[in-house]
This record gives sequence, C-alpha cells and structure tokens, in this order.
Amino acid sequence: MTDKPAYGFDTLQIHAGARPDPATGARQTPIYQTTAYVFRDADHAAALFNLQEVGYIYSRLTNPTVAVLQERIATLEGGVGAVCCSSGHAAQIMALFPLMGPGRNIVASNRLYGGTITQFSQTIRRFGWSARFVDTDDLDAVRAAIDDDTRAVFCETIANPGGYVSDLDALARIAADAGLPLIVDNTTATPYLCRPIDHGATLVVHYTTKYLTGNGTVTGGAIVDAGTFDWSASDKFPSLAAPEPAYHGLKFHETFGNLAFTFHGIAVGLRDLGMTMNPQAAHYTLMGIETLSLRMERHVQNAVKIAAWLETHPAVAGVTYAGLPTSPYADRAARMLPRGAGALFTVKLKGGYDACVRFVGALDLFSHVANLGDARSLVIHSASTTHRQLTLDQQVAAGAAPDVVRLSIGIENADDLIRDLDHALTVAGH
Ligand SMILES: *Cc1c(COP(=O)(O)O)cnc(C)c1O
Repeated sequence: MTDKPAYGFDTLQIHAGARPDPATGARQTPIYQTTAYVFRDADHAAALFNLQEVGYIYSRLTNPTVAVLQERIATLEGGVGAVCCSSGHAAQIMALFPLMGPGRNIVASNRLYGGTITQFSQTIRRFGWSARFVDTDDLDAVRAAIDDDTRAVFCETIANPGGYVSDLDALARIAADAGLPLIVDNTTATPYLCRPIDHGATLVVHYTTKYLTGNGTVTGGAIVDAGTFDWSASDKFPSLAAPEPAYHGLKFHETFGNLAFTFHGIAVGLRDLGMTMNPQAAHYTLMGIETLSLRMERHVQNAVKIAAWLETHPAVAGVTYAGLPTSPYADRAARMLPRGAGALFTVKLKGGYDACVRFVGALDLFSHVANLGDARSLVIHSASTTHRQLTLDQQVAAGAAPDVVRLSIGIENADDLIRDLDHALTVAGH
C-alpha cells in the first residue's frame, strides 16, 4: 500500500491484507481449510523449500487465511510483518525463541498478566532461559538488571490486571542503549489505542484471543516486527544474523533484511515449534478486527463512566483506571493513549478478600471468567484464580492483591452495568 495515500485505521481494519479471492472473486476472505498446496513442478517445490520463493507449502508454516490476518495486524500496528500462532502464550515463546539460548535472560516488568509471570518465572527455565522482574517505573532498576546475557526487555502497554501504563518511550531508549529489542504486549490497549512501534518498540506481542477477536470465541496470538532492529549489529542474535544450518547456511538478516524476524518466525519457529494458528481461528479474528475501532471507543466510554462511578462508592477503597484524573498514570496515559486508557482495571473493596468473593458471586451481567476483552463485561478475582500460583508479594506487585477484583468492561449499556455493580456491592457489604 506504499504508493497509495495512507488510509485511516477504520479503513485498514477492514481492508488491510485482503483482496477479493483470485480464484472465485469471493469478497470475504475464504477459510482455506487445507493442509497442503500443490507444487507447480519439482523446481517450484525446491525453490519454496530453499526459501528462494515465497509461497504455500504446508499449513503448519503458512495458510492464505492466516496470511491475511498477519498482514492486517502488521499494518494496524505499523510493523513490516507478523506471525500468528495458536495462543498468546505461544506468541510469547515464539517472540523469545529467536533471541534466546541457554543462559540468556530477559528483563521483564513485574506487572504482567499472571500466566505470563508463571511462564517467565517457571517454565522458560526448562529451556535454560530466565527472567528478571523489575518495577519498570524505576528506570535505574531496569538499567541495572540488564547484563551481557540479557536479550530483550519485556512489558505490557497497559498492564493486566492493574491498568498500569508503561512508559514505552523511556523503556525503548534503555533497550536501544543496551543494543536490545523492546518487546511490548499490546493486548489490553490494541493498536487502536496505542501503537508501541511509534514509541520505539521492536516487537509487539498480541493475544488475539482478546479485543482483536472481541467476542471470546478463539484463542490466538501474533508477533509483529517493527523491522527497525539491526540483528547483525552485535553477536548477540546468532539465530537471525549467523548462518542457519537447516537452510544451507542462509543468514536471515542478510537475506531478508527488515523481514528477517518474520521469515525466521515462519521458516524456523512455526516449522519446528508448530504453534500454528488454524484458518478457522484466523477467520473469527478477521471478523472481529473489522469492528475494532468501534468497539474500543465504546469500551473506553463505558470504562470511564463506570470507573468514575465506582471511585465514589462507599464500599470501594480504590480504582486503578488510568483514564481517571486521579490516577498516578493520568499524564502518561494522556500522552501514550490519547484515545483512552482501555477498559481493564481493578477495584479494591473495603471488605477485603471475603467481600470480593461475595461481590463476584452476586454479579449478574458481569460473568466470572478468566478472560478479558470480550464484548460482554467480565470480572475475576485474580488472587483466587489467575494469580493464585503467585506469592503474596508477587500478587501485590502485579496489582492482584487479595482485596481487589479485576473488571473488563464490555460494550453493553453502561447504566445497566452500573446497576449490576451497585447491587453486587450492596450484597458484598463493607
Ligand atoms: C490473555 C492474556 C495472555 C494469554 O493469552 P492466551 O491466548 O490465553 O495464551 C497473555 N498476556 C495477556 C496480557 C493476556 O491478556
């Protein structure tokens, strides 16, 4: 789309990556429910397997429906390419895989989705990787945590569950000074509210399970590459800069330039880790993305109204929404998230853990589920569910203390939601 005038977000969320099907003229992107693709001849097959020609071989690596979604997400995020995979957790492993090796570490925010903290503090250790968790508002602590074995800095734009806003510009400068990529999980903001690449991020990770799909139907993930990082500038990233034995010594960065990360993600990551998104999931997510901007506007409108109402309720001890003028993140949110600070925040109840349990049980429109970013409003008591595996200190640091509940505000009628919350707060008591 480079020589056309730049289209607006609302246009791109419907058109980017898609064109009428060349075989049938189908206007909507078909679900290409096929495992394999016929080679024109033996030379064609050889060229595809040598990565000399781009095309479809086998759906573990590439699929036309998934390819449309990849291009759409990359375009909306302002990146050069994207790789979709089977879940958000898969996207996280796929993002780290080309950067890491035994003994290497990442410096990560201590305010992350609970499942991510578990993945980073426990599971990746089996690969010989490790994570150092720091308060990313303490920039000196971030600098101090980086050492010769660090290969990335990782944070969330709007940290789940607390609604903290990361200072992406400052973190990107620290990462760049250390010759490292900044990886940003942009799930809770979506590219409509924030484009981390505009703030210096190298890679953007997405849980397409959430707002991008928007209706709680399928799990999926994506990694978007800004295409700005020089993987050959040091000897830290041999998977991308050094000869790859499985492709006759091809060097991804030398051969594919700013698409090196994306090609590696498909040709090595999906080939060997197999965390592939299926075409049905890509279809649901493509349907969802078409209305992303409209939904995000309503999510934000409802969240602003409900957070302001909750803040004055006598049973409520505090609300973490960065869209409130009273939030310590209000200025940062206004700078980085001019269209709104999302629709995810926590509410602290004066009645503590027991009141939280009663509150969650008394809600009717809000569903108690381990999910967010659905059209319907959701609630979770993180300390007894998603953040249950964490220590009390980790729970508090992550914004998931025992006396808080997390709300994911949907796109229903805001007054209906307020009535539901009001009733449940009465039942919960003080
Ligand atoms: C949901 C979520 C995940 C996990 O995504 P899955 O698709 O369930 O693997 C990770 N990080 C954040 C911020 C999330 O909201």
